[in-house]
Amino acid sequence: MAIFGRSWTLLKVFGFPIKINPTWFLLFFLIVFSLSTPGGLFHQWLEGEEVSRSTMWVLGVVGALGLFACLLIHELSHSVVARHTGMPVRGITLFIFGGVSEMEDEPPTAAAEFFMAVVGPLSSLALSAVFLAAWALCNFMLHAPPVMNVVLLYLAIVNFAIAAFNSLPAFPLDGGRVLRSFLWGITGNLWSATRLAAAVGSGFGMLMILGGIFSLFHALIISGIWLMFLGFFLRQAANSSLQNVMMRKTLGGENVGRFMTSPPVCVKEDLPVERFVNEYVLPYHFTAFPVTDNEGRLIGIIRARSPGEIDRRLWPQTPVKDIMTPRSSDTEVTPQTSALYALRKLSGAEGRRIIVVQDEQPVGIISLRDLMEFINLKADLFPEG
Ligand SMILES: [Zn+2]
Repeated sequence: MAIFGRSWTLLKVFGFPIKINPTWFLLFFLIVFSLSTPGGLFHQWLEGEEVSRSTMWVLGVVGALGLFACLLIHELSHSVVARHTGMPVRGITLFIFGGVSEMEDEPPTAAAEFFMAVVGPLSSLALSAVFLAAWALCNFMLHAPPVMNVVLLYLAIVNFAIAAFNSLPAFPLDGGRVLRSFLWGITGNLWSATRLAAAVGSGFGMLMILGGIFSLFHALIISGIWLMFLGFFLRQAANSSLQNVMMRKTLGGENVGRFMTSPPVCVKEDLPVERFVNEYVLPYHFTAFPVTDNEGRLIGIIRARSPGEIDRRLWPQTPVKDIMTPRSSDTEVTPQTSALYALRKLSGAEGRRIIVVQDEQPVGIISLRDLMEFINLKADLFPEG
């Protein structure tokens, strides 16, 4: 969910961290708005009833919170099945388009993927049935207050809609994952199954964008913009899922030692910043350099941009070690580290570079760009994999 920025961990359910992305508040606001404003859904359903303004807003908030609880149950069902098949789940994030379960890896088998995907729409369908039954009971037999009945009916409908939408065969939506699991099961090839499923997912994304434009022309502004964004997001998600599979396929079984630039260009800890800029930053164009002590041991990493953070007049007398980032396990690997693990570290590392260390000495440097170039090269040379 990197494209939506940071998310905050709210709580843990069954050991899964539940994270809220800031964009979630926009969705929350839109839902309450669409339910509770004059002309909103609850207003229409409660036509002729004596309902105060404030009650209407409370109903909207209850409806929206209920919807999020249902989305959470949907995602939890994915995560629980994933864990049962031995797949690590990083957590569940709620964001502007609903929720996602973040898996650390591809499913181990086609069957595992099928069960993991299908359980989502099934749980939403079950929720829909429960709310529908509750609504029927309250409405026809208990004669409960109408304000309660509308919330139950709303949750029944909205869960059905979630089940229906997620069942679209648009990878990486649940239906698209089911499609991929079938293709994978038939061909036995995860890569070609993903390519086909991602192409279908991308096509659906395009349809949504066109549908959004069509809605805009018919004065359905919010739904139009929504649909367009959803379409863009789906296309982007299909594409990045495809890239992930490609990276795993390409880098699987490889060690960092194969990709590193060696030996690395190191900077001595006592070197003045002024000389660092003139003798390293400008000639080499690297984004980061390992910093070593007099025995050649790694003590930190300095980014090419770091000198900009101090006053230029201080450059001649400030040693590099004063503005470097001390070494940490986040920016280090060994030559034997698996390339996939390094890739995960690289996506979070400052400057997109990490240092390869052996016996305390920096023996190489590895950048996200190097890995990407290798992946692209291999994809160009062996397109069928
Ligand atoms: Zn789902």
